[in-house]
Amino acid sequence: MTATPRPPACKLTGTPEKGYAVRANRDIKRGELVIDEAPLYTLSKPWDVDAIKLKLEHLTREQKEQYLKLSSVSRNDMSQIESIFRSNCLPLGLSNPMRIQATTEFGIFHKISRFNSSCSPNVRNVWDEKVKRMRMVAQRDITTDEELCFSYGMVLAPRAQRMEGLKKDFGFECACAACARGEDASKKSDGRRAELARLMKVIRSMGHDPSEGVRMVRRALKLLKAERLTDHEDHLYYYGYLFCVGASDITHAKEWAVKALDALVLSVGPYGDGVELMRKYAEKPESHPCKGVFLPMTLSGPK
Ligand SMILES: [Zn+2]
Repeated sequence: MTATPRPPACKLTGTPEKGYAVRANRDIKRGELVIDEAPLYTLSKPWDVDAIKLKLEHLTREQKEQYLKLSSVSRNDMSQIESIFRSNCLPLGLSNPMRIQATTEFGIFHKISRFNSSCSPNVRNVWDEKVKRMRMVAQRDITTDEELCFSYGMVLAPRAQRMEGLKKDFGFECACAACARGEDASKKSDGRRAELARLMKVIRSMGHDPSEGVRMVRRALKLLKAERLTDHEDHLYYYGYLFCVGASDITHAKEWAVKALDALVLSVGPYGDGVELMRKYAEKPESHPCKGVFLPMTLSGPK
């Protein structure tokens, strides 16, 4: 007996006039791979129009047509082929709790570049350096026909700032679930996101007070949940683990490490960057090089 192949997770809807949208073709579970794709071409910053022309010369005719059909924000100072690249390129960086790598390399994609933006995204773009492909991974359970969106950036900025930035860089008025809230709800959301941004900065330097560090991690996780965001969840659990392993509290370190592993797998997929190392820490929490760097103390777990 052979298993029936599952239908593709996403489909392209819309028209060039009304704008395209990528939607769920069936129900999708959090952590599931939605689509993966190799870039049409990649470029490193800083690029210019000649570099783009050179890349286009190496594409097949079909690929070139796919490229020219991508939407772009028209800018007076820029040719159309450059504007298409700027409006649709995605960073090819890796981000896992153990290795945050800033990147200067960007890629452009026939299908993935069609995904629209949301400040309450339900998918995330994850670059796989080993196979040189971009993956879109579901960040929550999604129902059939729901639009699939990732964040074009600035997700923790206040609504007014996000809307201004998206309008300037990508030419659209963001009307996502987070930006379409009423005044009151929006103010509360801005407050939570600002607090999250602050905590994400401060937590990293809480080595002098691991117990306060753990409290901050727990607070940030609550705020993430209230905002229906999953960005940084794996990082936050990992910080909880670091505080505990640093204070030689191995029992709680293990609880945090197991949560960090689960969150990382949901965020980047089971074979994503950093999963293997995080699995090692979850199995053997005392193996981290930061074990015992703080005074020994009993902290607390994720719950
Ligand atoms: Zn928005």
